[in-house]
Amino acid sequence: MPHPREDALLASIEARRDEVTALTQDLIRFPTVNPPGDAYRPCAEYLGERLRKRGFQVEYVRAEGSPGDSDAYPRINVIARWEGGRPGPCVHFNSHIDVVSAGEGWTVDPFGGVVKDGKVFGRGACDMKGGLAASVVAVEALIDSGVELPGALEISGTADEESGGYGGVAYLAERGWFSKPRVDHVIIPEPLNVDRVCVGHRGVWWAEIETKGRIAHGSMPFLGDSAIRHMGAVLNALETELYPALAAKTTSMPVVPEGAKQSTLNINSIHGGQREPEGGGLPSPVVADSARIVIDRRFLIEESLEEVKGEVRTLLESLQRNRSGFRYKLRELFEVAPSMTSQDAPVAAETAKAISQVLGREAHFICSPGTYDQKHIDRIGKLKNCIAYGPGLLDLAHQPDEYVAIDDLIASAKVMALSAANLLLS
Ligand SMILES: [Zn+2]
Repeated sequence: MPHPREDALLASIEARRDEVTALTQDLIRFPTVNPPGDAYRPCAEYLGERLRKRGFQVEYVRAEGSPGDSDAYPRINVIARWEGGRPGPCVHFNSHIDVVSAGEGWTVDPFGGVVKDGKVFGRGACDMKGGLAASVVAVEALIDSGVELPGALEISGTADEESGGYGGVAYLAERGWFSKPRVDHVIIPEPLNVDRVCVGHRGVWWAEIETKGRIAHGSMPFLGDSAIRHMGAVLNALETELYPALAAKTTSMPVVPEGAKQSTLNINSIHGGQREPEGGGLPSPVVADSARIVIDRRFLIEESLEEVKGEVRTLLESLQRNRSGFRYKLRELFEVAPSMTSQDAPVAAETAKAISQVLGREAHFICSPGTYDQKHIDRIGKLKNCIAYGPGLLDLAHQPDEYVAIDDLIASAKVMALSAANLLLS
């Protein structure tokens, strides 16, 4: 893009400060809480209607039959496309419109869209209605700039990212919405800070481990076999064998924060023995015949899913061989492969260039410790040119008093507009 045009584009975004603020506020006021997946339709229609008036072709896609989809809570997605004057690539901005529940501890109305001290507050302010608003304003300013653009610009507002994206990006990707030739470059404005380009994320494997025992009277535990003690042996093996092994693994992925640069394991939950009666009272005096844990293993691009599963199986098999009475069940719950776009991919390189131009400092390439919708675009859509870039601090996501700074909305909109322009014009 020639310089005078670039300067005009950036100035026109600067002048849209009130507009990007108001749009973020409006989006926050739709309580699109997931679960259950509330207010998706009005939020999607609000976005679609705005873009339709700007000359976009707007389509609504309900992810029928996806988890949670019902007439009361339809999984509505909106995709808007603006065609340039001649054929060329398509740059797509994808944001999820769902948010997690507000939770406790707010000092402002979580769905009020309060503006204070140069920040917009509310559930979803940073994750990721601020990013959505910035991308809309970026694209509108680019279209208004009068630069003759080839190709197409797309904006989507999609459902259910917070619950895995099956009623949103996964559903659309399965139907070709995130594949060539329709789309060439995807930017997901998740809150990863205005100076960072996120090229991917680690993998995930969730599983439930159950140890089995034999029930008996609690006064004579020697007549039974405690599943909880067997689970203790599992926890001990995780502690002494698996955790040190995971900590020793390193990656070429630029994962942040530093602690996530290794493989990690969280034990999400533990259950065992008889339930205490509702409303107080003592549990029955019996030996536990079952104990369960759910593990959340995050893995690196250098590890295969088979290897990740194999480590846990080996550990359990070894307990079965060496510990008297040890019996277990392993139930796999969920898996996502790691994803990483090359830093040389045009969408990553152009966004990094735009960051240094707008902010006057070098962009950082990072990977996210957790997954987001890039997994579906990569695996299902088979599109490698996908990054996450957007305003807001990841640490504030899902917290009380979540906010996005208005300066960041503007800075990221400038970066998105420049990056999109250069991707279309190059
Ligand atoms: Zn998000």
